Amino acid sequence: MHLIRVVMPASERDAPVTENADLQSVLDRAAQGGRITPEEALDLYRSAPLHALGSAADAVRRRRYAGTEHIATYIIERNINYTNVCVTACKFCAFYAPPKDTAKGWTRDLDDILRRCAETVELGGTQVMFQGGHHPDYGVEYYEEHFSAIKKAFPQLVIHSLGASEVEHMARISKVSPEEAIRRIHAAGLDSFAGAGAELLPARPRKAIAPLKESGERWLEIMETAHTLGVESTSTMLMGTGETNAERIEHLRMIRDVQDRTGGFRAFIPYTYQPENNHLKGRTQATIFEYLRMISIARLFLDNIAHIQGSWLTVGKEAGQLSLHYGADDLGSVMLEENVVSSAGAKHRSNRMELIDLIRKADRVPAQRATTYEHLLVHDDPANDPVDERVVSHLSSTAIEGGTAHPELKLVEAK
Ligand code: SF4
Repeated sequence: MHLIRVVMPASERDAPVTENADLQSVLDRAAQGGRITPEEALDLYRSAPLHALGSAADAVRRRRYAGTEHIATYIIERNINYTNVCVTACKFCAFYAPPKDTAKGWTRDLDDILRRCAETVELGGTQVMFQGGHHPDYGVEYYEEHFSAIKKAFPQLVIHSLGASEVEHMARISKVSPEEAIRRIHAAGLDSFAGAGAELLPARPRKAIAPLKESGERWLEIMETAHTLGVESTSTMLMGTGETNAERIEHLRMIRDVQDRTGGFRAFIPYTYQPENNHLKGRTQATIFEYLRMISIARLFLDNIAHIQGSWLTVGKEAGQLSLHYGADDLGSVMLEENVVSSAGAKHRSNRMELIDLIRKADRVPAQRATTYEHLLVHDDPANDPVDERVVSHLSSTAIEGGTAHPELKLVEAK
C-alpha cells in the first residue's frame, strides 16, 4: 500500500510559526527533544498556535519512533466492572452506588467474571481491566482470590488494572501497608496498574471533585512504590472539571518528576470529563482543541514517557484520529465492555475494523499491540484485515438503560 506523505519544503519548515520569539524558541527546543520547564509548558499550552504545537509534538513522536513512526497502535481489551459499590463518592462519578443504596448497588460473582474473561479471549482480547468501586468489604484477599482465579483459567490474559486509590483502599481494609498489598496482588496475577484514580493530582481541583480520595502526592507515592517493586503502570488525567490550565500543567509536572526517578509509567492518557448523571452537573467539558493541545503538550513535556494515547471513547472518534497528528502514537482499545465513563454520558462506540480504518485514514499503518506495546499484528495490507464483526465496543445495560449489550452483557456464546 502507498501512503501519501506531506513533506514540507525546508524553507517552510524552518519558518517561524509565531511572532513571539520566546515562544518560538521554546517550541523549537521542545521539537528538537530538549526539556521544557513547567512554566514554558504553560506558556506553550496557553499561547502557541495549535498547528505549531501539533507539528512540534509530531516531530518528537517521529523521532522517538524512528523506523516505526508510520505505525499507530490499538489493543483489544475488556473492562470488567466487579462492583459499583463505593465508599469514596467522587463528585464526577456516575457509576458508583453508596453502600447503603442496596437497590442501585451490585457485585459480580467470580463465575460471572470468569465468563467475561472467556469472552474476551474468544474475541481475541489480550487484556482485562478490572475496575470497580471501593467496596467496604474488599481487601487484599478479594483481589488475590480473583486475580489468581483469572490467571489460572486464562494465563494468556494480561491483568492491567486498578491504581493507587484501590491499593490505598484495600490496604486499609486488610490493615497492611500499600507495599504489602502490591506485592500480594502482583504475586496473585496483577501484571500492571492502569493508573486509575489519578484524576487531577494538584490539591485544589482534586479536593473539589474527589474529596475522599487520597491526595495526589499519596497517589504518586503508591505508584512509585509499585514501580520500585517492578510493577509498571500507565498514567491518566481527567480533564475538564473546572481545573485551571496551570493545574493541568502541574499534574504533568508531578508525573514527570516521579517518572524521572522510576521510569515506570509506560504511557500517559488524558481523557475528558463526561457531564451526565453526576454531582458536578453543569461543569463545562474540555473542548476538542483543549484536548488536542494537551496531547501535544504531553508529548513535548513528558519527554520521559514513551506512549501518549488519544481517548476516542471520551472525545470522539474524529478527535481521537486527529490526536495521532498531535503527538499521540496509540488510539487505546476496542473496549469490549465499558460501564464507567459511559454512565456519565460517553456514547461513542467503535469496533476493530473502524479503529483500523480511522488509523489508516490518519495516514498511519494500524497495529494491534500488547499491553507492553509490542506490535502483535501489523495491518500493512488491507486485503488481510481482520473481519470479525463481533469485536465491537459495548456500552452495557449497566451504564445505560437498554444499552448496547445484552442485559447480562453476554457478548458471545460462552464455550
Ligand atoms: S470514581 Fe471510583 S472511587 Fe470515585 S466514586 Fe467512582 S467508583 Fe468510587
